[in-house]
Amino acid sequence: MSFRSLSFQRCLQTFVASSFNSKDKTHRYFSSNPAFPLQQPRKASYKIYSEDENGEMEWEKLGFGPVSTDFMYSMKCCEDGNFVQGNLTHHGNIEFSPFAAVLNYGQGIIEGLKVNRKENGGLLLFRPDQHALRMKMGAQRMCMPSPSIHQFIHAVKQTALANIRWVPPPGKGSLYIRPLLIGSGPVLRVGPAPEYMFLTYASPVGNYFKVLLYLNDKQLILTSNEIELYGLLIKLQGRTPLSLYVEEEEVRAFSGGVGGVKSVSNYGPVLKALVRAKSLGFSDVLYLDSVSKKYLEEVSASNIFTLKGNVISTPPTSGTILPGITRKSIIEIALGLGFQVEERYISVHELTEADEVFCTGTAVGVAAVGSVTYRGTRFEFKVGENTVCQALGSILVGIQTGLIEDKEEWIINIH
Ligand SMILES: *Cc1c(COP(=O)(O)O)cnc(C)c1O
Repeated sequence: MSFRSLSFQRCLQTFVASSFNSKDKTHRYFSSNPAFPLQQPRKASYKIYSEDENGEMEWEKLGFGPVSTDFMYSMKCCEDGNFVQGNLTHHGNIEFSPFAAVLNYGQGIIEGLKVNRKENGGLLLFRPDQHALRMKMGAQRMCMPSPSIHQFIHAVKQTALANIRWVPPPGKGSLYIRPLLIGSGPVLRVGPAPEYMFLTYASPVGNYFKVLLYLNDKQLILTSNEIELYGLLIKLQGRTPLSLYVEEEEVRAFSGGVGGVKSVSNYGPVLKALVRAKSLGFSDVLYLDSVSKKYLEEVSASNIFTLKGNVISTPPTSGTILPGITRKSIIEIALGLGFQVEERYISVHELTEADEVFCTGTAVGVAAVGSVTYRGTRFEFKVGENTVCQALGSILVGIQTGLIEDKEEWIINIH
C-alpha cells in the first residue's frame, strides 16, 4: 500500500494517534534517501530561458536527487597543463574512452557549491574562491592540472546563468553546482592521464536529509511543504533531527591518503557503512580515526562539531578530514559571536557528554544531531528552539541568501 496515496489529513491523524498513544512506536529521523523523482525537464534548446519559465516546477518536492538542467560548461586541458576556451553545451551524457583514467584509476576531484536566489531575484554565490582553491589543492594531490581560480569561478557563473530558470525561489532550495575535474585521457599502465576535462553542471536541490516518518512501521517521506505543516508536531515530539551511527569497522580515510581532498575515490568506500547504517534506521555514519578508532573524524560528506558550555569544538583538518568551507565559515561566525572555538581531537567519550552536536556542509547546511549511537548505546543531544546550532545555521543561511549583511565579503552577486 502506498503511503503517498493516503491523504495528508489521514497521515497526520495516524501520526498524531500513533505518536501520542505508544511512546516508542513512532520514530522520526532524517535520511539522505533520494527525493521523489521530479517531472522530466523539458527538452533543452539553445536559448536562454526567461526566469519564470519554470512555473510548473514542483519546488516543494525538491530533495537531493539528480535533476537534469539545460546546460553544462566544459573545458579541456592537454599536455601543456593549461585549460583553454571553455564552452556551454546541452546538459547530457559525455563520451570517454574505456581507458579513461578517471574510470579505471579514480583520477578525479569534485566540488560542490550552491547558488541561492535573493528575495529581489538576484543570484548569490557563497565563497566560490574557496571552492576553486580547494580544487587546486586537491588536483595537486591527485597529480592533475587544475583550472585557475578565475576560470573556476567563470565556469560556475556561466553554468548558473545558463540554468537560471532552475534556481529555486527564495526559501525553496538552491541550484547546486557540481564542478568536476577528471583524467579523461586514456591510460593502461598506472600513471597520470594525458588529457583532462573540467566540467560544471547543475541540479536544483532542497533538503539533503529527507524527513522520514514511521507510521506503524511503514516509511513515509515528507516533502518540504509537509515538513512545515508537521513542524509543530516534530517539536512537540521533541525528537532528534539526525541520528548518527559510530562506525568502528570501516574507516573513511587514513594518514597520508586523500581524505583531506574531495577526490572521487573517497565516496565509493563509504557506501557499505552508509547503507548498513541506513538499513538500521540511522541517517548517516560518523567515522573515527583509522589508528586508535577513538577520535571523531567526520560524517560521510559533512564535518562534525560539538558544543559544551561556551566551547565549540571540531576535529582538526590535518589530512584525513575534508576542510569544509561551511566548517570554516561556522568557525568564523561562532568566533564573531563570542564562542570559544577549538580545533582539536575529540574522543567518542567526550562527544557523548556534549550539550549539542551538529554537522556542516554545503549540501546539509548546519544540521542538528539529535543522537549518536556507539556500541549499542544511544546518546542524545539538545535540538530545536534556542540551540546554538540553530542560531549558527540561521546566520549562515541569512548570509548565503542576502538577508544578513555580508561583512566578510563571502558573497558574489552574479545576476
Ligand atoms: C564536501 C564535504 C564536506 C563539506 O565541505 P563543504 O565545503 O562545507 O561543503 C565535508 N566532508 C566531506 C567528506 C565532504 O566531501
